[in-house]
Amino acid sequence: MQFLLSLHLPLKPARISQLSSILSNPIEYLKGVGPLRGDLLKKELNIFTFNDLLEHFPYRHIDKTEIKKIGDITPAADFIQVAGKIVSCEMMGEKRGKRLVAELRDDTGSLELTWFQGINWIQKNIQVGQSYLVFGKLSYFMGSPQITHPETELFTPEKKDGKNYFEPVYPATEKLKVRGLNGRQIGKLVQTLIELLHEKDIPENIPDTIIKQLQLLPRYDAYMHIHFPANTEMHEKALTRLKFEEFFLAQVRLGLIRFGRHRYSKGIVFSRVGELFHTFYKNHLPFELTGAQKRVLKEIRQDTAKGFQMNRLLQGDVGSGKTIVALLCMLLAADNGYQSCMMAPTGILAQQHYDSLTALLKGMPVETGLLTGSTKKAMRKELLAKAANGSLHILTGTHALIEDQVQFNKLGFAVVDEQHRFGVAQRAKLWEKGEVPPHVLVMTATPIPRTLAMTAYGDLDYSIMDELPPGRIPITTVHRYETARSQVMDFIKAEIQKGRQAYIIFPLIEESEKMNYENLMKGYENVKAYFPEPKYWISMVHGKMNADQKDANMQRFIQKDTQIMVSTTVIEVGVNVPNATVMVIESAEKFGLSQLHQLRGRVGRGGEKSYCILLTGNKLSADARERLKMMCATNDGFAIAEKDLEIRGPGDIEGTRQSGMLNFKLASIVQDKHLLDLAKQYAENLLNEDPELGLAVNLKLKNYLQQQKGQTLWSKIS
Ligand code: ADP
Ligand code: MG
Repeated sequence: MQFLLSLHLPLKPARISQLSSILSNPIEYLKGVGPLRGDLLKKELNIFTFNDLLEHFPYRHIDKTEIKKIGDITPAADFIQVAGKIVSCEMMGEKRGKRLVAELRDDTGSLELTWFQGINWIQKNIQVGQSYLVFGKLSYFMGSPQITHPETELFTPEKKDGKNYFEPVYPATEKLKVRGLNGRQIGKLVQTLIELLHEKDIPENIPDTIIKQLQLLPRYDAYMHIHFPANTEMHEKALTRLKFEEFFLAQVRLGLIRFGRHRYSKGIVFSRVGELFHTFYKNHLPFELTGAQKRVLKEIRQDTAKGFQMNRLLQGDVGSGKTIVALLCMLLAADNGYQSCMMAPTGILAQQHYDSLTALLKGMPVETGLLTGSTKKAMRKELLAKAANGSLHILTGTHALIEDQVQFNKLGFAVVDEQHRFGVAQRAKLWEKGEVPPHVLVMTATPIPRTLAMTAYGDLDYSIMDELPPGRIPITTVHRYETARSQVMDFIKAEIQKGRQAYIIFPLIEESEKMNYENLMKGYENVKAYFPEPKYWISMVHGKMNADQKDANMQRFIQKDTQIMVSTTVIEVGVNVPNATVMVIESAEKFGLSQLHQLRGRVGRGGEKSYCILLTGNKLSADARERLKMMCATNDGFAIAEKDLEIRGPGDIEGTRQSGMLNFKLASIVQDKHLLDLAKQYAENLLNEDPELGLAVNLKLKNYLQQQKGQTLWSKIS
């Protein structure tokens, strides 16, 4: 788990003595388990310790608290529990039809019990004339109620009621079932375990004040009732408590990391807004900033004046204007005597950033440079020298920027564009380029739902730009079937006639690179048949090309030498060709929502009306239909991201990292949003008041976090 407390934190690792809780016992020590079943539980369910079993939660409960009168049974009942005397028990039928049939009678009526398997053994054990508690699924045979293969146990009249809890049913695998560990038998083990546990074994880990304010069940009670609830209400309460706990602990951990950085990291101070910033703002900024842009600038301005390192994620939908925000920050750095760099995932993007930066900065005394894999040797040497002597203010580039030869005199601000193409480790390399780490601004155009960001990026500071510059003409998105292909191609022709350009995108087929290539080639031939040379020229970019080939083809499109760009998804990120007004996505049903939205963001970047056409076959799954509908209904990346999360769940969403963090056992960031909000709010308040968890009221929490750290490691060793 990556979010275990890291270096700067005030918490020290747990000592082994703290691990001696009964819950850290190996699972095979539990009565009824032993080495063989122990191995199975480890392999099949990842249950290594008593604690793992305690956290193996039931997926449903059967109500056995109520005993029905046989006379009250209606066909609407599903599983029922009745009690009565067995008045007869006989074998019936021949050979394969042979079965054991018993009659159960209470004071209101009688019911038939039937067994087909193990009947000799059952017959020997059933005592005619005795009272039994019987549970099973009700069915009707020839109009009369019966239960096939019921669960039976002797019924003593003192025990007038059923069980005093709902019986849990646990997830099990086929392999476990075959070896005699089905969902109910696992329940028996859990019961054995629970009987061993005292309150001190499940100590509270949420401060009392929070428990009181939110009326949460104490931790021990919650574990009792999540497994064996007295009633549905108690089960609900247990669930709420444990879900809140999951969110709360995660938020506290992330908060500790964030607070730790704020308190213990050394950071460069940008103490003033100076000449360059003001001059640019007054004389060079070609438009009024949006409200969102101003807000984010303010957040960054505040962060960079405090003396700790900023590590901020900036999320802005495609076209929201992140570049200008980055530029203003870099000018702020320059005003304070620091250099900046801006890293993009591809050569083309780096070039585009460089071009727009130099255009914007025209006439300003700001030295800029571009460093990519294809920068010529002499130029490269010059750039490196200028970076090292400090005369270069802003260096734009690709991964080339993080190579060891690149040394800055005083690097103060690093921008990473389109975050999800870069790993966390690569980002960290930027930090090492100065004695005091530079402030880092990570920009991403893949909107992530707020709830997801809170858990996946909770250790970063986080800004959102949810506003597009005014005057944009919204992109029209339509869904067309394969059968309308020639109309779609005619539409492209009409747009090209007006001087515009078009993208045609083919999906990546995950299983095979060869198939991808063939698929794309077939598509390309097909497009070529509609758009013959020399009237039309087509660019193509695909994964098998090397970077230079890709760049060359891309450049031809950017410079309008070609009117059509045929491509796999490699152009997805960031490319800016304002003259392109049509985006056709082939086999659109094969793409995820976020990806479709990213691709669509390649058009609608100029002053002309743009279109996105989603082409699909006739057979569509319900999910695919929903995705296409959503795409046609909205251009709002955040709304789309929320929907994506709803459809796919958090595990698969692109742009999230360390997905282990999102594997909550009970809580769901989709269904339990309100609890997540609450947990975040309480965790933040707590850390604001007591960032080192030093107060007595937070001792339980602190102890728990320390012990957890030890136990997590412990259970993975065995
Ligand atoms: P992205 O957030 O997708 O990186 P860009 O920074 O490339 O977006 O900006 C998209 C376009 O919008 C650019 O042409 C940029 O000049 C323009 N732009 C940015 N901010 C504004 C604004 N406040 N008003 C008008 N146009 C803007
Ligand atoms: Mg951008």
